[in-house]
Amino acid sequence: MRVNKNRIVEIAKDLIKYKSLTGMEKDIGEYVAGFFENIGVEYSIYEKEEGRPNTIAYLGHGEKTIAFNGHLDVVPIADESKWETDPFSPQLKGNRLFGRGSYDMKGSCAVMMHIAEILAKRKLNGNLQIQLVSDEEKGATFGTRHIVELIEKGKIKKPDCLIVGEGSDLKIRTGERGMLVFDVKFKGQAAHTANARFEAINAIVMASKAVLAIDRKIDKYHPEIGSPVISVNMISGGKAINQVPGECVITVDRRTIPGETKESVLAEIGEQIDKGLGKKDYEIMNTYYCGANITPKDSSFAETVFKVVKDIFKTEPEFYVGVGGVTDARWFRYAGMPTIIYGPLGEGAHGPNEYVNVDSLEKQGNIYLGLINHYLNGD
Ligand SMILES: [Zn+2]
Repeated sequence: MRVNKNRIVEIAKDLIKYKSLTGMEKDIGEYVAGFFENIGVEYSIYEKEEGRPNTIAYLGHGEKTIAFNGHLDVVPIADESKWETDPFSPQLKGNRLFGRGSYDMKGSCAVMMHIAEILAKRKLNGNLQIQLVSDEEKGATFGTRHIVELIEKGKIKKPDCLIVGEGSDLKIRTGERGMLVFDVKFKGQAAHTANARFEAINAIVMASKAVLAIDRKIDKYHPEIGSPVISVNMISGGKAINQVPGECVITVDRRTIPGETKESVLAEIGEQIDKGLGKKDYEIMNTYYCGANITPKDSSFAETVFKVVKDIFKTEPEFYVGVGGVTDARWFRYAGMPTIIYGPLGEGAHGPNEYVNVDSLEKQGNIYLGLINHYLNGD
C-alpha cells in the first residue's frame, strides 16, 4: 500500500485556496467535512465557538487508538510584494508547492486526508482518528485545547498515541521547548532633559543595560530538544523629546528546556538583570508560561515510530533537535498522551514564498501508512 503523490498535491491545492486565517476557518472546515462525507468516512465536528470547526474523522474499530493531528489555520501575509506567487493560488514548480500554509501545514493535512481516503474501505484492527483543527496559530483555545478538553471529559476517545504533522524535515521530533514570556518594567525618575545628569534616572538606559545582560546565548543543552533561547522582542518607553523617561518596559521571550521551571528561569534572569543594573528598580510582570515537553526517545511510541521509519527508509532515522517553535503537540503531552511530530520539508512558514517539498509529503504519507499498519494491525 502506497500513497499517491499527485492526489496529495491536489488535496493540498484545494486547502491552500481557502484563506483560512486564524479565526476564519469556517469555509475550509466545510470543505474538510464534505471530503470525509464523499469518501464515506464517519466524522464529527466539534466547535467551542461557532464557525471555528475542528473535524475528526473516525476510521477502524478495536482496542488501540492512534491519532493524527493537523491545523488548518494559517498566519496572515505580512508583505505581499515579497511573494513571487499569489499566496492563495497554489502553484507547483518542480518539487515545490508554493502557497500560504503549504508547509505550515496544509500539505500535511492533505496527507492525512489522503490516508483517510485510502483506508476508508479497509479493515483496521483498531481506531484511527484524523483530527483537523482550527486556532493553532493563536493558542489553540478553540482548536486542539478544546479537543483535549473533550478527551478528558470522555466525549472523544482518548488516543493511545498521536502524530502531529508539523514540518520536521522527515525527522522524528520527540519534544519541544517551553515558552516563558514576560514584561520587565524599569522604574527610573522622569525629569527635564536639563536635569539628565542630576535628579533624573533614565529608564531607557536601565532597560538597555538589562537587555545587554540577558540577551545572550545560553550555555545549556538537552539532547532531544536543544538549547534554551532568549530574545528581547519588544521595548517601549519615553513620553516626550525633552523629558528623561521615568519608565520603560521590555518584553522577553525565553524558550525553556526540560529541567527548567518558570521559577528557576525567572530567578536566573533576575540575577543577570541585578548584575547589569547594579540595583533592583524593576518589576517582572505579565508572565505567560508553558513548560518544555517530551515523549522521550526510549518511550514505546517513539521506539515504534523509529522502527517504522527505519524499516521503510532502510536507514537510521534522524531526530529533529534544536529548531522549531511550540506546536499543538504540547497540549497532548501535557495531558499525558505520547505525541511525536513527523512532517515534511519546506521553507517560508510564516514568511514569504512559503513552499512544501512534495516528494517529502509522499514519503511522509508512506511512513504514516506504515505506522498505522504496524501499530493497529501489527504488520
Ligand atoms: Zn503549524
